[in-house]
Amino acid sequence: VFVPPRFWPERHIYAGSPLERAAHRREDAAFIAAARDAPGTSFAPLWGLKHARKAEAAGGVRVLFRRAELPGGGAGIAPEGASFLGLLGGEAVFALDLGAGETPPAGWAAEDFADLRVLSPEIPAAWAAILAHARGLVYWQRRHRFCGVCGGGLETRAAGHLRHCPACGADHFPRTDPAVIMLVVRGERALLGHSPRFPIPEMYSTLAGFVEPGESLEEAVAREVWEETGIRVGAVHYHSSQPWPFPASLMLGFYAEAETEAITLDPEELSDARWFSRAEIRDHARLGFRLPRRDSIARRLIEDWLAHG
Ligand SMILES: [Zn+2]
Repeated sequence: VFVPPRFWPERHIYAGSPLERAAHRREDAAFIAAARDAPGTSFAPLWGLKHARKAEAAGGVRVLFRRAELPGGGAGIAPEGASFLGLLGGEAVFALDLGAGETPPAGWAAEDFADLRVLSPEIPAAWAAILAHARGLVYWQRRHRFCGVCGGGLETRAAGHLRHCPACGADHFPRTDPAVIMLVVRGERALLGHSPRFPIPEMYSTLAGFVEPGESLEEAVAREVWEETGIRVGAVHYHSSQPWPFPASLMLGFYAEAETEAITLDPEELSDARWFSRAEIRDHARLGFRLPRRDSIARRLIEDWLAHG
């Protein structure tokens, strides 16, 4: 009988935001306007989907900026460009959309901006979680400029968390797409696959895929494993979840117990998949393959299973 490993005590990177989201304040226009102008308020600026960052004289990297620290004292902040993320120690934090133009926004240089995956190892995990929130929300806003019902232009409401269509009355809310990611196990072995799409050429990792309409998470796990490897899975055990705003996913991690072993690859998805023992996975460097990044839920599923045996 498979007993799922206990969850890691640490939270996943991009989870664990220190913000109180204070959703009840989003519709309070007077509160939002005052918070936008308050000297203690912080902004997380984005150009494209890159975050502003400035090296501190004392070392470290700053990614949240007071209004006075923004170019021009933040004079050009348009209300619709600032989205209320929540409260940190009673002070407001906003995502600040500086646009997605070819040239950097006024007062900034291109090298002042970096992708969250590059930044996250350089900054506290709490800040990475705030930036993940900002990135996900701004991405949704940029991709939802027109009404999906009638094609009309949308107006921003709820301090950035709602887009309303004045033509037909439809309300559009931020989207997060559920994706399942699973370590398939059978006795003392686990299934890892390699995709030509992986950023690391020698990497073997867990299987993953998006949940489809009319499908439970357990069904999505079983379908993806079947489609990619031809393996039938039975019991599915939940492990943990991780916000993954690259661009708009929530990763839902599982262990899946295999009922068959023969592998039939889908060459569109995977170029290889194999059963590995715990010893082989631990010895991956000598055997010539690599595991996913340490900050990924895929790696945590693997490490928890290794520690469990
Ligand atoms: Zn509409």
